[in-house]
Amino acid sequence: MHNIASPQTNPRPTWRKALAQAIRDPDELCDLLDLPKEIRTSARAASKLFPLVVPREFVERMRPGDPNDPLLRQVLPLDAEAEEVPGFTVDPVGDAPSRRADGLLHKYHGRALLITTGVCAVHCRYCFRRHYPYHEEPRGLEAWEPALACLADDPLIAEVILSGGDPLTLTDEWLARLASRFEEIGHLQRLRVHTRLPIVLPQRVDDALLAWLTGTHLQPIMVVHANHPSELDDACRQALRRLVDAGVLVLNQAVLLKGINDDAATLARLCLELVSLRVMPYYLHQVDRVSGAAHFEVSEERGLQLMEDLRGQLPGYALPKYVREVSGEASKMPVELVSLSSVSQNFA
Ligand SMILES: *Cc1c(COP(=O)(O)O)cnc(C)c1O
Ligand code: SF4
Repeated sequence: MHNIASPQTNPRPTWRKALAQAIRDPDELCDLLDLPKEIRTSARAASKLFPLVVPREFVERMRPGDPNDPLLRQVLPLDAEAEEVPGFTVDPVGDAPSRRADGLLHKYHGRALLITTGVCAVHCRYCFRRHYPYHEEPRGLEAWEPALACLADDPLIAEVILSGGDPLTLTDEWLARLASRFEEIGHLQRLRVHTRLPIVLPQRVDDALLAWLTGTHLQPIMVVHANHPSELDDACRQALRRLVDAGVLVLNQAVLLKGINDDAATLARLCLELVSLRVMPYYLHQVDRVSGAAHFEVSEERGLQLMEDLRGQLPGYALPKYVREVSGEASKMPVELVSLSSVSQNFA
């Protein structure tokens, strides 16, 4: 017997509806997960520094009653964010000096990055752009003309990266228009999207997205962001499979986060599950030293030890590159090299 009104038969909300219905009230999150009172007070205060946002679809993967749940820890505002810690700043990766036009960052050879929006479906507490001045970036398509002209003017740029914020919070109509403009620029070969939506809001991967992403002659690449194997629920797996089946090269970047994924067993599980979905583990990032995120930092020494453990148990292709971003450098830096160069400086 089917009861049409039962919650099981309700279709999942469209991604836009789900985005609109994401949880933004710390009290609601605490109620849903049955969290203790002291956490509630702390969450309310810290959400004033950087608002709470988390889709219900992501909250459903958390363990109720557990303040240390690894998914919850990524999104729950905490008092610790208000602490001033020396070395932690508002622009730790040097975005500002690499701005070439409104919305266009060009740091590395051959690839340029567009800050398409400040909106994300989830607010990761450790986000290195949590203080980024998004309000200064373009909104309408006309406002993008200078950035498009810059891309067209530099024949060395072969890849354009849509970043943000999260570019997949924008409509497919808008993204399709942008993609067709890229297609007119002869030297562009690859279109890359940096997004967390396929993980936190998997219904975002729909026909309309696949249509524009694979509808140009540019090679489509997507870099998703999952930090813990519990993030990869069935809906998320299905979304990743759809992308790969459509011919998109899908890579994952994770951030090494204290108390969340800073153990070899968790990281190994994450990497192997990604590989089983044909998603390649790309980067494991040392957390950027953005103010408010000091309590997430794992020492590089510990990070290197974890990488050593992973090397001992994973096939080579499942091993991410452990990197950190150093302001002013020509690429993300392998943590090994950064440590070595500081050692050689000590001996110089
Ligand atoms: C991280 C980043 C990229 C991409 O670097 P890859 O090593 O190619 O993944 C490109 N541009 C900017 C500004 C970046 O911060
Ligand atoms: S999805 Fe990315 S850009 Fe958005 S808050 Fe998380 S880390 Fe920052």
